[in-house]
Amino acid sequence: NATLVWFRNDLRLADNPALHAACAAGGKVALLYILDERAGAASRWWLHHSLAALGREIAARGGHLLLRRGDPVEIIPKLAAELGVSEVHAARAYEPFWRSTDRALDTALKAHGIALHRHLSASLFPPERITTKTGGLYGVFTPFSKACFAAGVPDIFLRAPERINGLAAPSDALKDWRLLPTKPDWTGGMRAAWTPGEAGANARLKEFLDGPIQRYAEARDIPAHPGTAKLSPHAHFGEISPRYVWHRAAACGEGKGVQTFLKELLWREFSINLLWQHPDIRTAPIRPEFAAFPWAEAPQALRVWQLGQTGIPIVDAGMRELWQTGWMHNRVRMICASFLVKHLLIPWQAGEAWFWDTLVDADEAANGASWQWVAGCGADAAPYFRIFNPVLQGQKFDPDGAYVRRYVPELAKLPAACIHAPWEADPAILAHAGVRLGQSYPRPVIGLTEGRERALAAYGAIKAG
Ligand code: FAD
Repeated sequence: NATLVWFRNDLRLADNPALHAACAAGGKVALLYILDERAGAASRWWLHHSLAALGREIAARGGHLLLRRGDPVEIIPKLAAELGVSEVHAARAYEPFWRSTDRALDTALKAHGIALHRHLSASLFPPERITTKTGGLYGVFTPFSKACFAAGVPDIFLRAPERINGLAAPSDALKDWRLLPTKPDWTGGMRAAWTPGEAGANARLKEFLDGPIQRYAEARDIPAHPGTAKLSPHAHFGEISPRYVWHRAAACGEGKGVQTFLKELLWREFSINLLWQHPDIRTAPIRPEFAAFPWAEAPQALRVWQLGQTGIPIVDAGMRELWQTGWMHNRVRMICASFLVKHLLIPWQAGEAWFWDTLVDADEAANGASWQWVAGCGADAAPYFRIFNPVLQGQKFDPDGAYVRRYVPELAKLPAACIHAPWEADPAILAHAGVRLGQSYPRPVIGLTEGRERALAAYGAIKAG
């Protein structure tokens, strides 16, 4: 009576329903991870360390984390047959790739008389659970969030197993997967910023709940001193259970910070819900009229955006934070994304793809839904004609320029009054700060007024049909 746990978006031992059910069955347990080949470069770095941490925790409890590469629909039934497994347990996953894999796997396992059990683990609710009065799924965040609060997040916590009666089998060596870059190794900033794995996730949560959560409502928009939880990569890889985060945060009181944070957790839930309704959320606009949007072909502009060389300081700071640390502050993500799709008229899918490769929290649901939100083609999106002015955004959310100074050191000596728009600064001030526009720091890749007008004209074209 052996069972098999297939880890994928749930790389943790605590409050892991699939693992719990398998251990509760009482027999030997095989623990398997199959490489997700779709991960971007930064996510692969994270995955390596997260799997290493999970493997160590499992080994300390008497189990073995088996690593395999290939098609789950072939690997799992074969391994299950070899090991005499009668039940397979996994977390539910909502990405279209996993949904079709699960259907095929279910059929393949049934042919061997093996049951596939999928558990609620990666989200607070099953996506089909939160429905409108008429039984449909929500397309707008506020009523969705109210329905989630009304439904109530189940207060369940399953302890990590103390011992795992593990089954051994041949496994790949993690290092042979070559998930870490070597030449060059660009991960130094990521190593300094993050501790992938369940212990790192719990430490991050504790640190946030011990203080910053109370000031979250005000601090969450200031990129220089981020008062946010920085939990997104841990949440993406399932190193911490979403309902555990919810209840630990809710226990921190009734204050505005706590309430705002809980609502933010529901944006993650809403993104999952949108992905469930729109499986091609990464590529196809939810509002169909955007399929005819007159985007520009601008490979050079895309490149300077990716490199953080647009000449717009807050955009460049954000893109460099992303490159160095694998993460970018949410406010700055919105500014950078808006600049790409509006001022530069570059398709949001190109931005989504870059974020997919460079974010450690790259997530099909959150990334796809957020890009569509910024681009104005999402379900409950910011209207396209509302165009962020990156200079005003910088002045409002980085008033002393500390964020820009950190990531764009060539502007560090500029006074706060002109750091967000150096092209408007007095030449003597630029000279004094050692800034030579067009040499030490680029001139803006596009004039902000010109970009704004061009974007509005393009939008007018699709509105007119
Ligand atoms: P906190 O503010 O502390 O929020 C707590 C948690 O709530 C986060 O960890 C995250 O799981 C969730 N959350 C918060 N805001 C959002 C949101 N708007 N959408 C979905 N979940 C949210 N988030 C990702 O996890 N992966 C992505 O690939 C991703 N791509 C994005 C792309 C763009 C263009 C934009 C504008 C936003 C994107 N986000 C993405 C959402 C958001 O920026 C991050 O979740 C957030 O910055 C993570 O930092 P944090 O953990 O400190 O967040």
